[in-house]
This record gives sequence, structure tokens and C-alpha cells, in this order.
Amino acid sequence: MGYKCAAFGCTSGYKRYATDKAVTFHSFPLTNKELCDRWNRANPRQGYTPTPHSRICSLHFRSCDFVEERTDSNMARRKRKAKLLGDKLVNRYLKEDAVPSIFPQAPEYLSTKCSGPRATVSATASSRLEQEAQRLEELEQSFHAADDITDDSLDDIIDKLKAETALPTGFTVTKSDSVLLIYLLQVSDSIPTITACITLHGDRSVVVSVDGKSVAASHFSDLLKGPLRRMSQLVNVIARVKSLSQTADNACRPLKSGKGTDSSGQPSQRPIDQKAQDRQADEQAAQ
Ligand SMILES: [Zn+2]
Repeated sequence: MGYKCAAFGCTSGYKRYATDKAVTFHSFPLTNKELCDRWNRANPRQGYTPTPHSRICSLHFRSCDFVEERTDSNMARRKRKAKLLGDKLVNRYLKEDAVPSIFPQAPEYLSTKCSGPRATVSATASSRLEQEAQRLEELEQSFHAADDITDDSLDDIIDKLKAETALPTGFTVTKSDSVLLIYLLQVSDSIPTITACITLHGDRSVVVSVDGKSVAASHFSDLLKGPLRRMSQLVNVIARVKSLSQTADNACRPLKSGKGTDSSGQPSQRPIDQKAQDRQADEQAAQ
């Protein structure tokens, strides 16, 4: 028929571009001024004045803008039209009040989404959401798979610990006999001391020690109960052990000068109760 689409940026009907055979062309509703104005406002092509020869192609309408009919009594014509619309033996007519709303070449906000049940646009959006959800689920599964160390050998765990970015600093990892040692080493006057250690056995049981004494499992039972199964559990236990060793460190170490005194040079009294504070204030007031 030789129609060209008048929609912004559309190449339907232009010889240089291939136009899908299923694309249909629809004349502007020139006899209905209000509707015609809506078409013009919808079309991002500014200042376009449609003529009786102007057409907008079907790519700019939602599927819910069409009615499908099977009422054509002329079988030959019906078959010919049906072929144009794919293999379905149906005719499509634009609804009387349909307004073009899909302009893929224009900024996205100029296209409106279909709210009907046959909404191609929103169906695509929801399937995109589904795909996104599926992708996230796969990601989570792969994370859990990587985190699972049930079937890993102690050497595999060493490799994973070396690759672990969230590992607290200062720990050394060694395999000794059939156990894995993850420990903190402190060197004082050339004498090394293991200040804290996590010992992982082949059966995945964990023993924690700080300053040469074993730490009750209740100190980390919120992080690990029973045998070790996941890398994230191990990383959390290592972090807990580091903080336990630092607490033990501070408790044992003598106070350095300058610490533990207030600004007047007197040892600070803690806790200062309210009565003592009041008495101090009274004494100051009396002077
Ligand atoms: Zn078009």
C-alpha cells in the first residue's frame, strides 16, 4: 500500500528498512477532533499535522487497543488478512477510542503501559521481574554452594581462607597432622607466643583457645553449634576469637602511664555515684 508511519522515529513503511508483514497501518481519526488531538499529543513528533493519508503503524498500540474478530464472511479475504497477522485466523481492528502509546524511539516516559489483562508491555515487565528474581535466587544458591565446606578437605579450607576477604587480620593458617590451626602469634623479646587459636579437626569439630586456655563453646555457640559446615561460620568464629583475645590482652596488661588517671592527675574513680558528685559540688560551693 506504500504507507509510511508518522510516529516519532518509526521506520515502518520506509523502503530502506524492512517492515514486518504483521505491521498494520492506521489512519488518524480526523473526524473526531478530540481523539485526533490525543493522537497528536501522544506522538512525540512535535508540530505534526496529519492528513487523510497519514498513518500510524500498529507497533505504537498495545495489544489491548485491538479487537480481534472472526466475522469476515469473505473466506478468501479473511485468509489473506489472517496471513498478514501471522498464522492465526483472526482479524485485528483498532478500537474506536484507541490512542497510540508506544514510541520505542522516544524517551521512555512518553510511552504508557497497558493495564488490561492482555497487556504485552506489562507482561514483559513482569516476566523481566521474574527473571530478575530467578537470577537473584541462582546467585544466592551459588553463594550457599561456595559457602558450604562440608565436603572440603582441610587443604581446600586453607585455600578458601586465603581467598577470604572478610578474614580478620593477623591470623596464620597452618595444617598440622590432621588438624587445621588458625592462630594469632605475638612475638615479645624474640619469644613467640600463640595468643589465640582455632583448631579445626577432620571431623569438623572446633576447639578455641585463648592464652593457652580452652574457651568454652558457649562463648561462640551463637555463631557455631556442632560441627563446622560453612565458611561464613568459620570467619565469624575467627572474628570472635580475635575480640576475645583482645579483651584478655587488656585485662592482663598493666596500665600504661597516662591512662587511668583524670586530668587532675588523680586516679579516676569509677563509677562515680550521684551522691559523691553532689558532695563534690557542695564542697566547691562552700569554698
Ligand atoms: Zn510506526
